[in-house]
Amino acid sequence: MERRKFLGTSLGLGAILSAGCTAAAHATGKQNSTFPTIPLKGKKESAITHWDVVTIGNLSRNRYWGESEEQALHPVICTTTVISGKNFHVMVDPSLKDSSAMAEELKRRTGLVPENINVVFVTHEHGDHHAGIQSFPNASWYATEATAKMINTTEKYIKNVEPAPQQLFSAIDVVPTPGHTPGTAGLRFDYHGLSVFVCGDSVATRDFWDEGRMYFKALDMEMSHRSMKKIAAIADVIVPGHDNYFINL
Ligand SMILES: [Zn+2]
Repeated sequence: MERRKFLGTSLGLGAILSAGCTAAAHATGKQNSTFPTIPLKGKKESAITHWDVVTIGNLSRNRYWGESEEQALHPVICTTTVISGKNFHVMVDPSLKDSSAMAEELKRRTGLVPENINVVFVTHEHGDHHAGIQSFPNASWYATEATAKMINTTEKYIKNVEPAPQQLFSAIDVVPTPGHTPGTAGLRFDYHGLSVFVCGDSVATRDFWDEGRMYFKALDMEMSHRSMKKIAAIADVIVPGHDNYFINL
């Protein structure tokens, strides 16, 4: 009953994880296997008030679906995430090229309109991760210096992508995770005690993560593997480049 009471509330994921452990410990006097203890890596205090996955990405080919990696089989989109604080909204990897589709998905998943987005952060230069960037002309466009340079030389957008500061709004860390491309970076933030990491293609999907495998397009496999280990050490919740978010167990 106690468990149902916890799960029946609208508590956040962090609260459910800790509450689950607490409830089990209370009922049995010790931790049991039904509720494994997951030590959380994030801080309770945070300027982040909300975060949402706007589009759940997919791959152009997926080895875990029995597909060959020789050729693209599906239209690809990446996972787009919005991270919000009291006075800011940061979009990571705008996926949809069609501006009305991008605005519609943003509205449908967050209630926001494109003008609400203050910053667009692009994890790396592959086109599917910034296809929808022009829907946000008033936002600051950021990426690592290497990624910004690549995008600015290959795309003819209405303005340049700028090198990102190390932190956004004193609440979101820009964390280099090279390997998939040299300039790949993700965003890490605290949310109710959880450390959330929005990875881009450093983590392709949950299946790739479970097997510890890099997506075949990674430029440097060894470096990419080191970056995955770095993410594993600091993240409770992982938002991959082409899948829904999941818990780092
Ligand atoms: Zn990529």
